[in-house]
Amino acid sequence: MAKHVPSCIAPTGARKTRFREEPAYAEGLWELGNSLYAWMVPNGSWGESNSGLIVGDGQSLLIDTLWDINHTQAMLDGMEPILRKAPLSMLVNTHADGDHFWGNQLIEDHVVSITSQAARDEMDHHKPSSMIAFANLGKYLRQMPLSRMHHVGHWFETLCMPYEFRGVKHTPARETFSGTVWKDIGGRRLQLIEVGPAHTKGDLMVYVPDAKTLFAGDILFIGSTPVMWAGPVENWIRALDLILGLEVEMIVPGHGPLTDKDGVRMVKTYWEFVNGAARKCFDSGTSVAKAAHEIVTSAAFASYGFSNWDSPERMMTNVHLLYCQFRGKNSRMSVPAKINLMRKQALLAHQLPNARPAVMRTRDASL
Ligand SMILES: [Zn+2]
Repeated sequence: MAKHVPSCIAPTGARKTRFREEPAYAEGLWELGNSLYAWMVPNGSWGESNSGLIVGDGQSLLIDTLWDINHTQAMLDGMEPILRKAPLSMLVNTHADGDHFWGNQLIEDHVVSITSQAARDEMDHHKPSSMIAFANLGKYLRQMPLSRMHHVGHWFETLCMPYEFRGVKHTPARETFSGTVWKDIGGRRLQLIEVGPAHTKGDLMVYVPDAKTLFAGDILFIGSTPVMWAGPVENWIRALDLILGLEVEMIVPGHGPLTDKDGVRMVKTYWEFVNGAARKCFDSGTSVAKAAHEIVTSAAFASYGFSNWDSPERMMTNVHLLYCQFRGKNSRMSVPAKINLMRKQALLAHQLPNARPAVMRTRDASL
């Protein structure tokens, strides 16, 4: 069989990313070959998440919805010519982050919706009201005449800027599983593989063996820095090794461009590097904030390809989570603790002059 070169068959025509960066690839519906598609959102930054579409005989399966109703509706409209012939009958949510399930309400009536039990449990902790509060806090802090508060407020508010969380109805997937299950979609067999806790508590991936294709969810961030909300890191690395052991040629990451096993190896190198560097800082008694800054500005970090990925400030969350692990502490965070971590992340972003998306940093650093 000739190798299919993926191409964007229904671009949205967006000239810039949601965060006003130059798009590294076209936003819209990509045909992957073998009746598989992906809705790609460049460049994979906050909420710029990808979805997948698996088309079988007369029915289709959607992998993930997007962070709000508008973006999810635009995606469904872009998929319409395909869905007319093969309507959606199943929805899989790869994990409990809002940018992968807050559009569920648009299709819940027509489909069987599935996620892992662990992701289902976590979904109730991720409600739109918390993001609305986060955006409002950003607006408030931005008015503060104190530069640090202003920077944080700007970063919070800008993160939410492209999205409309009002109108999102909490609609978690209804059916759950644990471990690994096979599903059938219009005569095609596909496997749901639970690999969490890693990025979140209940991460899963969707494997389509007949097309040697994997939809990896947020186990893979490409061109955008991975963030660990749950861990342990060993589980994440184990999930990456599992991918490397699969017969897979095409991989759709949760964020960033289409990739292959080289992309998987890059993410694995990121975690091995960060794990080692954070351990050294931990052993020498360095604080989380200082360690994150030290690691992300080190010559060693700069020598890797991932140092150019966007949102390098996520190092703050990653180091925090690793420190919890080193202490043998539960990584579960309260909402205020999470906001405090985001605050530190915003301040770190302001200390990195090349960090993208650039729009998340205030231009007037002297304010
Ligand atoms: Zn995501």
